[in-house]
Amino acid sequence: MAHLDLHCPSGCEEGVFEVLNAEVLVDRAGAYLRHRAGAATYVCATCQSVAIDMAGVSREMRRERSVEPEVLHCPSCGIELLPPEDEALTDVLECPACETRFGLEEGMRRLHGGSSGLLDGSDG
Ligand SMILES: [Zn+2]
Ligand SMILES: [Zn+2]
Repeated sequence: MAHLDLHCPSGCEEGVFEVLNAEVLVDRAGAYLRHRAGAATYVCATCQSVAIDMAGVSREMRRERSVEPEVLHCPSCGIELLPPEDEALTDVLECPACETRFGLEEGMRRLHGGSSGLLDGSDG
């Protein structure tokens, strides 16, 4: 589950890394069992550069894709609105054009282009 894919940014081929800030657990004989890598930092044992966790990078990139849209739409008149900078402070917007007050979630919903009509049930 907690799989890592460590790479030295300097390109060292040894692939040996030192774990910093991790709780290392050992048995009675002092033999390594495992470590808790909560806030662990991995550095290259050869050049001491902070290692790059490629598995973590790809995870971060997937999170980037789920960002909120940059533009909101007024559910009443449909004009584009810029979202508030501090959305934590307010979740209700007021349209400057038609003065309709609506929630952030409401403004983020996609508006159907075209007139409202019958739904054609086409099963692709
Ligand atoms: Zn290195
Ligand atoms: Zn409006």
